[in-house]
Amino acid sequence: MEIKTEEQELVCAVCGEKSSQTVVVEYEPDRSVPDLDMRPGEPHRSYIKYWVSKCPHCGYCNASIEIPALFTKEYLQSANYNQYGDSLAGRFMKMSLVCEKNKVYEEALKACLYAAWTFDDVGNDEKARECRRAAVRIFDSHRALFSEKPDYVLVAADIMRRSGNYERVISDYKGRFFHSGLMTAIAAFEAELAEKGDSDCHRADEAPGVTVK
Ligand SMILES: [Zn+2]
Repeated sequence: MEIKTEEQELVCAVCGEKSSQTVVVEYEPDRSVPDLDMRPGEPHRSYIKYWVSKCPHCGYCNASIEIPALFTKEYLQSANYNQYGDSLAGRFMKMSLVCEKNKVYEEALKACLYAAWTFDDVGNDEKARECRRAAVRIFDSHRALFSEKPDYVLVAADIMRRSGNYERVISDYKGRFFHSGLMTAIAAFEAELAEKGDSDCHRADEAPGVTVK
C-alpha cells in the first residue's frame, strides 16, 4: 500500500455546495528517481488523477475544492474557463487558471505541467507541447517571482526543451551556474540535449556527474 484514499463530503469554497470527493489520506514518501521536470517515477507517477478535484455543482477545479478562491462562481461559467473540457488534462488546465486568479503562480505553472504529463501518457505530443507552452507563458509573466526560485528556473529549461524551444534552452542555460553543483550539471545537460534537438523525456540521473539517491 503506497497510497490510501477515502471518500469525504467536502464543501466547495466557491459555491458552498457539498459533494463527495476522493481524498488521499495517507501516502508513502516518494523514493523514485524523478524525470528532469520532477515527475516522480512509479508508484507515485500513477496517482496523478488524485491531484485535482472538481466540484460537480460549479465546476471549480483545484487540488482541493476547499481551497478558498479570490473570484466568484461567475468566473467558472466564463468562456475562458470553459475552453478546456472535462478530461483529466482539461481539469488541470482549469486548475491552472484558478491558481493564476488566486495568484499562486507556482501552482498555476505546475498544473499546466501535470496536464502535459497526462497527454504524454497517451502519446498526444501536440497537446502536451501546448500545455508546456502555457507553463512557459506563466513563467515569463512572473519573471521576478520565478527568478528567485532556482528549482523552477531549472524545471523551465526542461519544459522549454520538451516543447521544442531548443534555441532558448541553449541561450538561457548553456554555461549557466547555479548555487548547487547538481543544478549546474542538470542545466548543462538540458543545453546539451537541446543542441541535439532532443525533446524526449529524460531522468535526472542521466545527467553526467549526477547521482540521485
Ligand atoms: Zn462548487
